[in-house]
Amino acid sequence: MSKRILVPWAMPERGKEVLRRAKIEVIFIHGPKGELPSINELIQAVKQVDVLIPRGTQPVPGRVMMANPNLRGIANYGVGYDNIDVAFATRLGIPVTNTPGVLTETTADLAWALLMATARKIPQAHNYTLSGEWRGPGGRSFMGMDIGPGGSNRRKVLGIIGFGRIGQAVMRRSRGFKMKVVAYDPFLKESIEKVKGVEYRELDDLLRESDFITLHCPLTKETHHLIGKRELDLMKPTAILINTSRGPVLDEKALVTVLKKGRIAGAGLDVYEKEPRLAPGLAKLQNVVLLPHIGSATTDTRGQMAVVAAKNAVMMLRGKRPRNIINPEVYHSPEYVRRVKI
Ligand code: NAD
Repeated sequence: MSKRILVPWAMPERGKEVLRRAKIEVIFIHGPKGELPSINELIQAVKQVDVLIPRGTQPVPGRVMMANPNLRGIANYGVGYDNIDVAFATRLGIPVTNTPGVLTETTADLAWALLMATARKIPQAHNYTLSGEWRGPGGRSFMGMDIGPGGSNRRKVLGIIGFGRIGQAVMRRSRGFKMKVVAYDPFLKESIEKVKGVEYRELDDLLRESDFITLHCPLTKETHHLIGKRELDLMKPTAILINTSRGPVLDEKALVTVLKKGRIAGAGLDVYEKEPRLAPGLAKLQNVVLLPHIGSATTDTRGQMAVVAAKNAVMMLRGKRPRNIINPEVYHSPEYVRRVKI
């Protein structure tokens, strides 16, 4: 029987080209505007294929995997893989891959753009300019906050939570702004201390000291609500929080409360706890900049992510070990061996 791949979303052309060149039959299912199928539609479609390429935030629970005893791989289109029940996949002997590295710089650009837009109230000022209310001198002044030393002549403190690929790329961008950089990452304490110009801080100390705090850890059981009411209360009243990691890393309801009270100065968010829904009250606030999860959304980067996901999928389809394997322990499992023998 010929082998097939399922792509249940609108894949960029460059990824399709990789699959075409590999002469693999591909089943695409998505709505005319790229709408994702429901879980039940996904379950039906996955029965007919050998490898699944889900879109980064598309949920792949165990029941999708259970639907096909011959599924031999899941190639996620995204670096985060909290959408996939990886532990379940591992138990079933299914390799899972992601697309690390290719979206690092693009996501760091977006985090930095959010930081600047929030600090200088750029969307609010843009809307005002378009509204026709601006009548020249004497209009609203949109007082912002310096990112560089600015008028206060004080180096601002950037706090990075999660000092992996994207966290470090954000750190590199801060250099032109002469910021002091502090970072928290429980797995990289020793390596952070060796990075020139970066000081390690425990989480609470980072929260107390930073003018800007930016989240770059993955969503795991440990990082769920890593930033909740207690942590937000530790922040300076003038501080700004940026989240381009995953929504549930931050307690969005608690964030709305502190922003309403003006307990912190502002927040820039690209991700939310229950996308595409926003926590009640969030959209009404004046001290937020809100984006619809576009961290990696540039044509080149999304194209390259599709290439990487497609290459990983082709390798798994052929029973070979792909580059970006998340659960390498599957290769020791008899269940994996059974799947690739079929
Ligand atoms: P990475 O694995 O290189 O870095 C993540 C870092 O977080 C690691 O160094 C890890 O040690 C650290 N970490 C783990 N648990 C932690 C904890 N409890 N506290 C603090 N740090 C912790 O990953 P990356 O490529 O930098 O991507 C980071 C995350 O960004 C992804 O998992 C994904 O969820 C998110 N992301 C979002 C977008 C977007 O569109 N907004 C785009 C790309 C990535």
